Amino acid sequence: MEATIPTCRDMAERVTDYLEGALSASSRLGTRMHLFICPSCRRYFDQMRKTIRLLADAPPAPPPDGVAEKVIAAVRRDPQGQPTGD
Ligand SMILES: [Zn+2]
Repeated sequence: MEATIPTCRDMAERVTDYLEGALSASSRLGTRMHLFICPSCRRYFDQMRKTIRLLADAPPAPPPDGVAEKVIAAVRRDPQGQPTGD
């Protein structure tokens, strides 16, 4: 079994599989070797790991910036949720 070290591009393609443990043993070894020598992929993988964890744990996603404000503004404009008619 020979592990070839993937390129950074390969790394981006396999990050999800790696984090899910879906890679073959030799791919995983190559990925680890790349992470060992490549700080930017290490950072990228760390970031992905955190993101995946957040998505897995997260309650329903918070609304994007500005949506809450718009909802609040709409409610203030129309507190009963009825057409105001004026
Ligand atoms: Zn890299």
